[in-house]
Amino acid sequence: MRNRTSRLSGFYKLDHDERLAEVQAVAGLDDATVEALRNSSALPFELLDRLVENAIGGFTVPVGIATNMIVDGRDVLIPMATEESSVIAAVGNTARQCRDTGGFTTSISGTEMIAQIQMVKLTDPWAARAKILEKKAEIAEICDGCDPILVKLGGGFRDLEVRIIDGQTGPMVVVHIIVDTKDAMGANAVNTMAETLAPSLAGWTGGQHHLRILSNLADRRVARARAVWRAADIGGADVVEGIVMAADFADCDPYRAATHNKGIMNGVSALTLATGNDTRAIEAGAHAFAARTGRYRSLSRYEITAEGDLTGSIELPMALGLVGGATKVHPTAQACLKILGVKSAAELSRIAAAVGLAQNFGALKALATVGIQQGHMTLHAQNVAIAVGAAGDEIAEVARRLAETHTVRQDVAEQILAEIRARK
Ligand code: NAD
Repeated sequence: MRNRTSRLSGFYKLDHDERLAEVQAVAGLDDATVEALRNSSALPFELLDRLVENAIGGFTVPVGIATNMIVDGRDVLIPMATEESSVIAAVGNTARQCRDTGGFTTSISGTEMIAQIQMVKLTDPWAARAKILEKKAEIAEICDGCDPILVKLGGGFRDLEVRIIDGQTGPMVVVHIIVDTKDAMGANAVNTMAETLAPSLAGWTGGQHHLRILSNLADRRVARARAVWRAADIGGADVVEGIVMAADFADCDPYRAATHNKGIMNGVSALTLATGNDTRAIEAGAHAFAARTGRYRSLSRYEITAEGDLTGSIELPMALGLVGGATKVHPTAQACLKILGVKSAAELSRIAAAVGLAQNFGALKALATVGIQQGHMTLHAQNVAIAVGAAGDEIAEVARRLAETHTVRQDVAEQILAEIRARK
């Protein structure tokens, strides 16, 4: 093992073998670990190295299909990339329980992104605001000039907002440019526009431009979904009432809302990742939207219909793209988009909202009835079995016995595995 330093000058210039050798020397890895890293991705190393800097391998997350989903009258197979057990099965189960009522109905507010330009050191922010609003036509021209492809596709600059925010460092003028980015998530597109426009804003107002970056609170790109679950299909009126009470808890209490919304994002992020989109952008947008009233709240609502059935609805920002980022470059993302059969980013976003609602219903129903652990137990038990070294047939046996004892713990798994091996 070489001196443990993280100062690896020129690491980015090395080829795959050289980078692995360097990491092996510094981290003191054995040869088997290095081989595992070398063969960790089915993707060509050239592609991995193009996607990120200093690549040394890949990290395979399983992709599975959630079945039974009907979205806006169309049967859709949902590819989901996730490492968490039970997520994919839960969506399929939930979707089955609302097939008879037509599945999920969705809509979206638009495909517009917001880029922010922060203007500082202005003595007259209100006058600056007025001057900027007067220049709307010129601003449109500057922004559209940055992306002729987007404009040709029907996208481009749409609107302008100018806000004045009193910060601790003084008043700042915050300019929002609103851009229809069509089938792109749009971060690069709007960031380029913001950077290009900023010097003109400074020239018109006499202030200084500072930050120029999109907002992940994509509240002009809000996807919605709703569904009805018949009381008779989900265990009766008590279950309906139980889910409504559970949802009320989430809306009232941020401690509960965080977990409630995390459950929604189990589905949304898995679809986001499967399609090569930016999971962090989607997560940030969702949580900021959940807090938009000044209190962190639930992203979904549950009510009892006039017929006594359960209706659920969800609304959250969904800045997903079919082009840009890794969507076009990653072969698995391309395959997943083909499986979905979507023709626009708006359609993908609407499906994602439906998946979020499906995931949420699954978790709420479990929580409001048998508890979450029963469903998780078997798959979780398998992971614990693998973690203690079970292989082949041993995995199923250890998992089954762990689930039976209702103590899915590593020490218990080790004991069961030892018993199985002693028997052989
Ligand atoms: P991009 O710039 O790679 O692609 C978008 C461009 O593709 C458009 O500007 C347009 O010129 C062209 N295009 C071709 N066909 C199109 C179509 N049908 N609809 C729309 N545009 C079309 O990607 P992007 O979407 O601008 O940016 C996404 C990437 O930016 C992601 O990888 C994301 O991770 C990254 N990013 C995110 C943040 C953030 O979320 N805060 C910040 C910076 C970068």
